[in-house]
Order: sequence, then C-alpha cells, then structure tokens
Amino acid sequence: MYNIFMENKTQVIVVGGGPAGISAAVTVARTGKEVILIERGNFCGSKNVFGGAVYTKPIKEIFPNFEENAPLERNNTKHKYMLLTENEDTTISHSSVDENSNSYTVIRAKFDRWLSEQAKKEGVTIVTQTLVKDLIIKNNRIIGIKTELEDYYADIVILADGVNSLLAKKAGLRNDFKPSDVALGVKEVFKIDSEKINERFNLKENEGCITEIIGYPMNGMLGLGYIYTNKNSVTIGLGVALDELTEKQLKPYELLDKLKLHPSVAPLIKDGELLEYSAHLIPEGGYNKIPQLYGNGVMVVGDAAMLVNNLHWEGTNLAMISGKFAGETAVEAIKMNDFSKNTLKLYKQKLDKSFIIKDLKSYRNLMPTMHKRRNSFTDYYIKKISSFFEMFTSVDGIVKRDKFRNFIKSIFTDRNISELFKDGFAGIKLLWEILK
Ligand SMILES: Cc1cc2nc3c(=O)[nH]c(=O)nc-3n(C[C@H](O)[C@H](O)[C@H](O)COP(=O)(O)OP(=O)(O)OC[C@H]3O[C@@H](n4cnc5c(N)ncnc54)[C@H](O)[C@@H]3O)c2cc1C
Repeated sequence: MYNIFMENKTQVIVVGGGPAGISAAVTVARTGKEVILIERGNFCGSKNVFGGAVYTKPIKEIFPNFEENAPLERNNTKHKYMLLTENEDTTISHSSVDENSNSYTVIRAKFDRWLSEQAKKEGVTIVTQTLVKDLIIKNNRIIGIKTELEDYYADIVILADGVNSLLAKKAGLRNDFKPSDVALGVKEVFKIDSEKINERFNLKENEGCITEIIGYPMNGMLGLGYIYTNKNSVTIGLGVALDELTEKQLKPYELLDKLKLHPSVAPLIKDGELLEYSAHLIPEGGYNKIPQLYGNGVMVVGDAAMLVNNLHWEGTNLAMISGKFAGETAVEAIKMNDFSKNTLKLYKQKLDKSFIIKDLKSYRNLMPTMHKRRNSFTDYYIKKISSFFEMFTSVDGIVKRDKFRNFIKSIFTDRNISELFKDGFAGIKLLWEILK
C-alpha cells in the first residue's frame, strides 16, 4: 500500500477540520483518491465556535443519512425575531408545521468530531494536533505545506483554515482583513433542564427555538444577538462589527451581560449554570470581500474565503458546499493531471452557479448600507416599532385617531426629513438588489 507518511507526498492536503475542510476531504476520498486532512486542535471541532444551527438540506448533500446518527440537539421548529429596546420587546414568531427539519442546533465540538469520524471511515487520513505553519511554493505553484515537525507535499492543497486564514494570505490570495470586514462573536452556554427549556420556549420534546435579537444592547451598532435551545442547555450570544467595538471602546462581554439582564431575556436563562464562554471572529465582508478563490495548486473554502451570509447566520452550509465543490474540482484536476489555476477555476465556476455566490451577490451592499444607516435601522426604527405597539395596545381613553396622528407626526418631528428619505431610499435599493 502507498505509504503517505514515508514518502510525505499525497494527492490532496486539506488544512482545517471544520465543516468546509471535512466536506472537501470526504468528497475526494469517496473517489478513491488520497487525501490528508490536517487539524491543529486535539480533534476536529475542539476549536470551533458558533451559535448555532446547522442546516439539514446542505448537510444531506454530503452526509445523506446524518439525521440517523449525528449528535443533534434539537430540531428547530420555531424561529423568533425579537426587536429589543432597553425594557421592551416586540417579537415576531414563526412555528413550522413542515415535518422535514430545516435546521438542528448542535454542539460543534461533538458535531464536527462526528463529521470527521465519518470522513475517516470513508478513507480520509486525519492528522490532529498539528499546526500548518507555512506553504511550500515552487515555480509559482503551491506544492505542499510545512508543519512544526515536517513538510508534506501534495498535488493540491485546499485551505479550510477558517476566518483568519494566514495561509490564504501566504498563498497571495487575500490581504489582511479590515476590522469592518469581521464581527466579533461572543457566546455563553447555560445548563438548564430540558423540561424547563420546553416550558420557557413553549416547545415539545426535541423541538428547538432560534431567537434572533435586533436592537438593545447593540443599538446604533452593526450587530445581532441570538438565543439557541440545545437539549439541556441554552446558548446566548451576540456578534458586533469589530470596527464598532474598537471605535466605541466597547467590550463585547459587557454587551452580552446587558443582554442577559434584559427583562425579556433574563427569565429564559434564569438559574442556568454557566458551562462555557467563547469568542470567535465572523467573516462579514460578503461578496465584495471574497478573495481570489484559487491559484496554481491551491483552493480556498469556507470562512477562509469569506463565504458567510451573516444576515441569516448561514456559514456552515456555505462552508460545506464550497468544500464539496473544491473536492470535486480536485478530483477533476487529478484526472486531468493538471493542477494549474486553469483547471482549478472550475471551483469558482461551480460556486458562481450555486446559491452561495448568487445570494452573496444579492446582499453585496447590505453591510455597507447598514454601516451607513446603522443608527436608523438598529436603533431609531426599533424604538419606533416598540413605541407604535405601546401606543396601539394601550387603553387610555384617548381618541385612537389622535393617537395615530400624533405617532405619525412624531416621526417627522424627531427625524430629519432628509434622513427619512435616505433611509427609505437605502431600504428600497437593498430590496431591489435582492429581488432583481
Ligand atoms: C458566534 C458565531 C455564531 C455562528 N452561528 C452560526 C450558525 O448558527 N449557523 C451557521 O451555519 N454558521 C454560524 N456561524 C458561522 C460558522 O461557524 C462558520 O461559517 C463555519 O464554522 C465555517 O466553517 P469552516 O470549516 O470554514 O471554518 P472553521 O469552522 O473555523 O474551521 C477551521 C478549522 O481550521 C483549523 N485551523 C485553522 N488554522 C489552522 C492551521 N494553520 N493548521 C491546522 N488547522 C488549522 C481550526 O482549528 C478549525 O478547526 C457562526 C460563527 C460564529 C463565530
């Protein structure tokens, strides 16, 4: 048998054992080609942080029967959008009647480990506790990687090393990101009995609820909060653009503390025992900041390629599908025995045709626009929606017509008319770009 380690040469090396890397590696292994996945953590998933929910359909494209054995927490049948002011909330809630699951909450340390075990069964050689420090470049082509101990060579290297991909930079495929291109996410996990979770979130056994939080305590900043229900724990967290945190000298865990104390949030995690605190960067640059995705002998996938749709908290699905495309492209290149960018451009062609680039392209002006209009969309209108419902639901003997008129008048008195126009124009433009 071909001994990879004696010869230190294989067909494909994948760097990073997150969803992107594992999907790329298993796609290659299924065709009988040699693939080594190198992960710096003790096991795949040990370093991975997210909200979070994973999405059923994209996972099934790679692991069709995952629902039978994967360590899943709850099937998310409820999705809430909570608009918060300091003391109030206005919540829109959607409950699904579809029997097929759309998403599951998972604990990444368990889920990614499970994915990697499946990949191993299908022929991927997984090397853990190994940091890839550099790339080996010869004649303008990536031909291998350097770890602390050894050099390994491959026909193709797939970079799946996450948001802060130093290797993609070394490959000359991307520049340093700007603080406005990433958000800092912080989260805590609280242990709470499953019966209490069901009661507090109005769930049946194994049903889960995703709560997205807009407004307080991130008012006026580009940020979102979230609450996810696991089997016996609840995850609460938020992500805020890094440039905002730096400019305003805010500490994200102080914002998280404020969120936990909100009167509509505190009862949901009451008496929970803190199990875990973690922080991680989230790519936010979107379509405009996608780096060069391939070069001679190399492709970049997942977070390393900025493939995240942040408005929808979609990252793992883009990571897995981009990994699958890179894996398929690697197999094609091996068949053609051509590892130049001329062949590897197939990876980008596959991405361009998929929902990944189409969605990111539609949303390409979302972040720049939200950046400019953040005081309006994450503060002013949230408070206004809250005061509308306060007015609409109060029974106080005041003539309704007068209340409605006063409410409309207040928009024009507390808001400069040109700002209102700019908000309206920005909103319509965004909608047009998404729909066209
Ligand atoms: C707070 C937060 C909440 C989120 N919520 C959601 C959600 O609810 N749903 C969703 O779909 N997405 C969510 N995301 C996004 C999602 O987590 C990412 O998009 C996804 O994990 C990207 O997968 P990946 O494989 O590209 O990268 P990662 O999951 O980051 O994996 C990269 C891997 O590479 C390894 N690595 C890095 N450098 C090296 C090196 N030099 N050598 C060896 N190994 C290396 C790391 O240890 C890691 O295992 C969230 C992210 C954050 C931060």
